[in-house]
Amino acid sequence: MDTVLKIDNLTKQYGRITAVKNLSLEVKRGNVFGILGPNGSGKTTTLGILLDVINKTSGSFSWFGQPPGKGVRKKIGAILETPIFYPYLSATKNLEIVAEIKGAPKENIDQVLKKVELYERRFDKFRTYSLGMKQRLSIASALLCDPEVMILDEPTNGLDPQGIAEIRELIKQIAKEGKTIILASHLLDEVQKVCTHFCVLKRGTLLYSGSVDEVNKGVESVEVMSDTP
Ligand code: ATP
Repeated sequence: MDTVLKIDNLTKQYGRITAVKNLSLEVKRGNVFGILGPNGSGKTTTLGILLDVINKTSGSFSWFGQPPGKGVRKKIGAILETPIFYPYLSATKNLEIVAEIKGAPKENIDQVLKKVELYERRFDKFRTYSLGMKQRLSIASALLCDPEVMILDEPTNGLDPQGIAEIRELIKQIAKEGKTIILASHLLDEVQKVCTHFCVLKRGTLLYSGSVDEVNKGVESVEVMSDTP
């Protein structure tokens, strides 16, 4: 199985705080890979480094066997936080703007709106959308360039149960279509429901990495996570 992402000994210091400590990981093509950890465990910092928006302190990583760079970045769609869409514009218009900025083909817009089940509501203003619909539009915008990898940072945060179920279903659907997914979450339940593989981080340190089928081993690590920081 091809390696999509390899991280070797990655460390990030913010002054005296070590947000990520000697992290090594491998994500294979087709994995839905969960990065599980409580608040402050280094999930967002790790994703930021992988997307070149945060500088690492030491260590290395490669995407598709290549060093990070522009050629590689095009293959990765990411949602780090809810992107700012224009509230008084429709979903279609908002995605046209995103497509313009990213250089993505506008012909993809209807297709991605169908994929996230917003096609029927495509001419409604963004401000009329529920939180779940807004998050699905974010996923649509990340899909516009037809990336090989999707990075999702806590995509179900703040959503109601229906919104959570819809996003999880959508993630599984996207994975089925052959994309590799990296999903940060603080919910073991989410990782168990959605992911094929996962790792557990605690205060920047890797506690466990393996397949979800071996989750019981992971649960032991998660119990360790419940210590107060
Ligand atoms: P959350 O779910 O709350 O976002 P996380 O697992 O994503 O948590 P990070 O946001 O990566 O964790 O934070 C890891 C550690 O690094 C925390 O102790 C946090 O306070 C610290 N940290 C993150 N960003 C900065 C920053 N810009 N400057 C200083 N410290 C930071």
